[in-house]
Amino acid sequence: MLSIDFQKGEGLVPAIVQNATSGKVLMLGYMNQEAFEQTQKTGLVTFFSRSKNRLWTKGETSGNTLKVVNMELDCDQDTLLVLVDPTGPACHRNTETCFDTEGDSASYHLRSFQNFTPTEQALQFISKLEQTIKERRKNPIEGSYTNFLFDKGLNKMAQKVGEEAVEVVIDAVAGKTETMKGEAADLLFHLLVLLEASGLSLAEVVQVLESRHKPRE
Ligand code: AMP
Ligand code: ZN
Ligand code: ZN
Ligand code: ZN
Repeated sequence: MLSIDFQKGEGLVPAIVQNATSGKVLMLGYMNQEAFEQTQKTGLVTFFSRSKNRLWTKGETSGNTLKVVNMELDCDQDTLLVLVDPTGPACHRNTETCFDTEGDSASYHLRSFQNFTPTEQALQFISKLEQTIKERRKNPIEGSYTNFLFDKGLNKMAQKVGEEAVEVVIDAVAGKTETMKGEAADLLFHLLVLLEASGLSLAEVVQVLESRHKPRE
């Protein structure tokens, strides 16, 4: 039995509506006791609309109702998570969710803010490095090691990739993880240079990985 803390929100609790199948967050509304009871009774998501100042069954005019699959409370019982099976678009703009405004001209919406995980930041840096290597090749810089490699040519780059790979292997086998980090960095860098010299992009290489990838349930 759900025991909801309506007090904190002065009679209202936020209700996060999530697609029960896809996990997509569709919209957020507020429920008071009455809206919650009606939602339970009818199996259709009903909010208390703060703008209409009355109960509002989502889809009452558009027909795009939200069928309740499950309702859960958060850790301190002041927020509802409503898992639904939507009849149609949840947003009044006729989009699947209210949270797909990126690229929208809606004047009020915030610029989307994204937090990147350390791995995502690392991949972004690799992408920057690939760009820098391209740029050096086009506009050489005095004393640049990248340009030194381009001047030496493909064989030198290929040889460096081989060397650095062996150094990684030696450190790995010896359990020297600290120096291995540096050697792996050398390997990645020289591999990027070799790819550029060979007219290949990182994206093309990763596409091969993706095509081989078979996710298991
Ligand atoms: P509906 O509940 O789909 O029949 O839509 C009725 C009215 O509720 C719309 O004209 C909007 O003003 C409002 N509305 C519908 N969907 C949303 C939503 N996802 N978020 C905020 N307001 C909505
Ligand atoms: Zn809470
Ligand atoms: Zn919306
Ligand atoms: Zn090295």
